[in-house]
Amino acid sequence: MELYSGYINKLIDELAALPGIGNKSAQRLAFYIINMSPSRVKKLSETIVQAKEHVSYCKVCQNLTDGDVCPICSSEARDHSTIMVVENPRDLAAYEKTGKYNGVYHVLHGAISPMLGIGPGDIRLKELIERLRGDDVSEVIIATNSSLEGETTAMYISKLIKPTGIRVTRIASGVPVGGDLEYIDEVTLLRALDGRVEL
Ligand SMILES: [Zn+2]
Repeated sequence: MELYSGYINKLIDELAALPGIGNKSAQRLAFYIINMSPSRVKKLSETIVQAKEHVSYCKVCQNLTDGDVCPICSSEARDHSTIMVVENPRDLAAYEKTGKYNGVYHVLHGAISPMLGIGPGDIRLKELIERLRGDDVSEVIIATNSSLEGETTAMYISKLIKPTGIRVTRIASGVPVGGDLEYIDEVTLLRALDGRVEL
């Protein structure tokens, strides 16, 4: 006999398929949702559908945004000649939270990982190279994570960009090895940025 009804099981399965949600958490969330008021459940499901419909990648930096171009790329107050390359939107958010970085970004949406079969063509690297051709860029700061994948990606990008004559730097190793940028405090992030080294 099944422990829960078919509908509950279906809901648990969907939730458990999300990253970071184990079966126990999925059960807890499913029961919580069932106990929510019908209007709140409707609002939650509509919010998910609307976000999926309206959020896309910024055509300049590939960050997630509601429009064609994200607020950072459309801001005239930012220094568009400095591009910080990060692995994902969460890393971008970590640097934005410091409020001290005034350049723009490029979001790769991943890192090169030969082990996982993720090659340069699987991340948004082509878009970066195209951007460097068109825009007037003086420095590319590579702020990928200090994991093996992050380092591999940094070296790969640096080799691609070097021949163009654009300055390529890598954030300092103040960021712990294997550390995800999003979990690192602001002081460490800024120290890593200030102490960046030439590649
Ligand atoms: Zn953008």
